Amino acid sequence: MEKNYRAELTGVFGDPVDGNPSGVMEEAAYAAAGVNYRYLTMRVKKEALQAAFEGAKAVGMKGFNLTMPHKIAILPYLDELTPAAALIGAANTVYCKNGKWIGENTDGKGFVTALEKAGISLKGKKVTMLGAGGAARAIGIECALAGAQSITVINRNEIHGRELAELIDSMTETKAEYLPWTAAVQIPSHTQILVQATSIGLHPDVDQKPDIEYDTISKEMVVCDVIFNPVQPLFLQEAARRGAKTVTGIGMLVQQGALNFELWTGIQAPMEVMYETLEKEFITE
Ligand code: NDP
Repeated sequence: MEKNYRAELTGVFGDPVDGNPSGVMEEAAYAAAGVNYRYLTMRVKKEALQAAFEGAKAVGMKGFNLTMPHKIAILPYLDELTPAAALIGAANTVYCKNGKWIGENTDGKGFVTALEKAGISLKGKKVTMLGAGGAARAIGIECALAGAQSITVINRNEIHGRELAELIDSMTETKAEYLPWTAAVQIPSHTQILVQATSIGLHPDVDQKPDIEYDTISKEMVVCDVIFNPVQPLFLQEAARRGAKTVTGIGMLVQQGALNFELWTGIQAPMEVMYETLEKEFITE
């Protein structure tokens, strides 16, 4: 049989991007699945995105991830968007299908799948979410599409918070409202699923936690965090101390990585390997 030294190419465009852990996870998955794929972590400056995309097409990349500051900026260059990416207004993943470049957003899907794997359904649930940035938008829309009954958005910046609540409320079947983030804000007592979707507590700021009234978290709530490093941020530790079931951000990261893997390779992702590889990268104590 003739040898094939050519690898299929995937990767991520971002700036800053040096600390992005996706490459370690995807390359471990490619090796475990025995496919000749590579995942390159590429620093692409804001003004170089179009050129980078042209380059990706020229070398026949299978697809790529986008991180700051490109998730919205990529949209005009794509041929199509999935319905969720169109609603969210941002793409974190691009893949090529039948010659068309398609933008998808796997962040929120990863979150919903991670919850399902933990035995938690969004259907009919009352959700409260801290944050209204990119991750929160993706999570909010996917929770709504997964059948959440209501979503309360608590965000420091009122304009962003209101905008997200209005988007969910007007474009999906889910009722959504905005709640101002006052000091030591109380979590509404009807909350069944509480999502921490801000960047507070991410390494190296491991001693920080959102300014909420922690005693309003009850043991009946499922409490989730998007922060994956450390694996148990202070926020989740406080929730666990009050008896709540907690779901870490690493599950979401693995699930969105697995969805990307499947979009690019067409085969099922070896999720155990991805999970184990990432855990070794992060602070787990
Ligand atoms: P953005 O910059 O888009 O949004 C940041 C959000 O955090 C905003 O809502 C912002 O509020 C809020 N925020 C930041 N600092 C504070 C503060 N001191 N007090 C109150 N609110 C604050 O970031 P992303 O949404 O893209 O990412 C958020 C986090 O999610 C990151 O840490 C990222 O690593 C993580 N993430 C995890 C994923 C996973 O798979 N687990 C996937 C994607 C992201 P305001 O609007 O008021 O500025």
